[in-house]
Amino acid sequence: MAYTFRGGLRLEEHKNTRGKRIETLPPPKTVSIPLQQHIGAPCKPVVAVGDTVAVGQLIGDVGAGLFCPVHASVSGKVTAIEDKFAPMGNRVTNVVIENDFADTPDPSMQPFEKSLADATSEEIVSVIRRAGISGMGGATFPTYAKIESAIGKVDRIIINCAECEPFICANHRLMLEDPAAVVNGVKVLLKAVGVREAYLAVEDNKLDAANKLEPLVADSQMISVRILKTKYPQGDERQLIYSLTGKELPAGKLPADVGCVIFNVETCAAVFHAFAEGTPLIRRIVTVDGDCVRTPKNILAPIGASFGDLIEFCGGLKKTPKRVVSGGPMMGRAVWDPATTVMKGTSAVLVMSSAYENATGLPPACIRCGRCVRNCPMHLMPNYIAQFSRAKDYARAEQFGAMSCVECGTCSYNCPGHMETAHDIRIAKNEIRKAARNKK
Ligand code: SF4
Ligand code: SF4
Repeated sequence: MAYTFRGGLRLEEHKNTRGKRIETLPPPKTVSIPLQQHIGAPCKPVVAVGDTVAVGQLIGDVGAGLFCPVHASVSGKVTAIEDKFAPMGNRVTNVVIENDFADTPDPSMQPFEKSLADATSEEIVSVIRRAGISGMGGATFPTYAKIESAIGKVDRIIINCAECEPFICANHRLMLEDPAAVVNGVKVLLKAVGVREAYLAVEDNKLDAANKLEPLVADSQMISVRILKTKYPQGDERQLIYSLTGKELPAGKLPADVGCVIFNVETCAAVFHAFAEGTPLIRRIVTVDGDCVRTPKNILAPIGASFGDLIEFCGGLKKTPKRVVSGGPMMGRAVWDPATTVMKGTSAVLVMSSAYENATGLPPACIRCGRCVRNCPMHLMPNYIAQFSRAKDYARAEQFGAMSCVECGTCSYNCPGHMETAHDIRIAKNEIRKAARNKK
């Protein structure tokens, strides 16, 4: 099966890892854990070089504002606290821990003392905040803050099970291998948000996953599985809301403005583990794929493991890579350092050869074919916005709707002139945001 774009073009799935069970990464010798893996304020280290830490111990915190605490994913000794580049290109303080392979758990990791029926919304939100859970689909918005902003404003929860980018299968495998964690997490979120309706939104290329989830919600009056057409970018929140409710989310508005709040499916499982076991967000599933990887896999990796560790676990490389991408091929970020580490929002590591590059050797050029306009899910004119961005005319880029761009990458993917349209629009968005901040 292939994904389709709005304009009818097709996108091949490349799901090499779809049938591959999740494997656990052998414990790495060291982990380097960034203290900002979320939208909001960076955390400050609460440990020092030379300290001994346990699995799940708090190592980074802020205590106020929008933030997500950070925890140790292995036990061992803190050997460095240093700045490193993150996949977004910013420099972030990392806590480096040398693994003692003892896997000593922190005593703070305890199940919540009350049953779900007895727990209040405030108590659940507090558990989720302490567990450092942020969105695991890539946006990395702190989950506790999303719940707080939704309380009293929404009437339903949408669980994003679409995972619509090619190559990535991490969410799909989670639904197949641990559907109970997902469904139990949804129950916790329903109680936290205080609503009585949740949709598990699964694309029709993952009916096997829907078949695993359906029996678990068969008796539920509140949770249902909804099957969506496989198309790109079905997992974008605007597309999801429209597909499920028929409501359009206007530019600049949030899902809560149309009565919805959306959580990623792996975030649900993380919420369940935090509530039922007291486990903070210290590991996640990562799809490692691309034509250079010898044996592509889905890997359960501790936060802070290096991309190099993951690639080695996949048998290393069989071709010379041209590009390493953190995330999917459409929306991910190219990284240049194999020591880049797995973060809470790292869904995939892709290692691509030059076969995925512009093979013509010709310089990029817009031939005004209009393909990007026909296929943009946000009904924008990407060619014009990108042109204004390249000319540094960010005011015109904004007039043409740059801020409505969801950075799905469709315009670049479909461009016969090999223009880096989505990249240019992303630059314009950053500049527009910067200008707005400077005005304040
Ligand atoms: S940017 Fe690319 S897809 Fe868009 S009009 Fe130009 S050549 Fe066509
Ligand atoms: S990246 Fe932005 S402009 Fe390009 S197709 Fe996606 S939403 Fe449209």
